[in-house]
Amino acid sequence: MQEERELMVEIGKQMSSSGLCPGTSGNQSIYNPELGLMAIKPSGIGYMETTPEDIVIMDLESHVVDGKRKPSSEWDMHTEFYKHKPTCRAIVHTHSRFCTTFAVLRKPIEAVHYVLADANCYEVPCAPYHTFGTPELANDAVKYCGDGDAVLLANHGIIVCGKNLNSAFGLAKNLEYIAELQYRALCIGQPHVLSKELMDEVFEGFKSYGQPSQIVHSATNVR
Ligand SMILES: [Zn+2]
Repeated sequence: MQEERELMVEIGKQMSSSGLCPGTSGNQSIYNPELGLMAIKPSGIGYMETTPEDIVIMDLESHVVDGKRKPSSEWDMHTEFYKHKPTCRAIVHTHSRFCTTFAVLRKPIEAVHYVLADANCYEVPCAPYHTFGTPELANDAVKYCGDGDAVLLANHGIIVCGKNLNSAFGLAKNLEYIAELQYRALCIGQPHVLSKELMDEVFEGFKSYGQPSQIVHSATNVR
């Protein structure tokens, strides 16, 4: 899992400098399906101070397999996503300002911008409130996420899935941008929300977006 450990440190630094994860808030993980192992952020260590050795390696049965640190208090939520979403290979969880603003209102992030289609849903729903680190939160996060790639956690933050850690982080940034647009639009009026029919056209367009060799869907594509 050395490759995963190093990528965790690199993207963790980007998560911190992006402003999406102030202090030690938020966390990230990578799942390696061949080994059945997850690399997860250690609890309470700053992103800039984390070294590859600090990353905790766990299986999906709650066991720490390698690493001296305690895993993030939200490891159970990460485990549940990998168990129930077979294409999920990485998770980014943040308490970012604008996404969490809607999580506090317990309102979804709506399709006020077509790039929301990156999250594979018509809107990003909000799961009910449960105390952090509890199995109830883990279960409801997965349940409310459904087939999409993101879910708000009431009075807490957002959790985002990806095919790899780069795409999960890219989607987290895109959703923060859309949540900010929705917030700003609501400050001065009532935003128009794209209908399911119009979003279906975007989903169709995304299938053939980019260069032929890059047709694999990526949230980090610049559109
Ligand atoms: Zn959290």
